[in-house]
Amino acid sequence: MLYYSGPVARLVDEFTKLPGIGPKTAQRLAFYVLNAPPELAQGLAKALVEVRHSIKRCTICCNLTDEDPCSICRDTSRNSKILCVVEEPRDVIAMEKARGYKGHYHVLHGAISPMEGISPEDLTIKELLKRIKSTEIEEVILAANSDIEGETTALYLARILKPLGVKVTRIAHGIPVGSDLEYADAMTLIKALEGRGEFG
Ligand code: ZN
Repeated sequence: MLYYSGPVARLVDEFTKLPGIGPKTAQRLAFYVLNAPPELAQGLAKALVEVRHSIKRCTICCNLTDEDPCSICRDTSRNSKILCVVEEPRDVIAMEKARGYKGHYHVLHGAISPMEGISPEDLTIKELLKRIKSTEIEEVILAANSDIEGETTALYLARILKPLGVKVTRIAHGIPVGSDLEYADAMTLIKALEGRGEFG
């Protein structure tokens, strides 16, 4: 193992904290930054700080946004009586790209996973319940992924949402079992949405 001087070692160390980046890649990135024109490092540093300052959670749907409420929550042409519950902000992007959905969203920021110690309290379920109780919602579409965590989350949500008198549906299994929403192609997503069934 080579020894790097303090700042280089710190940069390598910071890169390894990112998902999917091992020590080798971290070193390669660090040396790339070192050898590139100074503007690259400045631009990167500025973008990193800015993204943390300007991006927050929408107080209505919990999606990430630079404006609160977000552009989807503000869009009056959308059907505010239908809520599509997804795990991650990237799932909203996948659904929007498919262009077949004109309701609103609620972003959970994860899925229930006893293995990883993620419980319902770690997700935005409290916000979801408050929203359903305080606004007129007719249908909640559970679009959590079709892996174990996603199914567990959908079951949990169906159980607590049904007593509120709201229609609860689950997207059809056009989505391959065990796969993430974000990797489904647009057509599959639209079909899954159209073929959704009432839960339980
Ligand atoms: Zn929003």
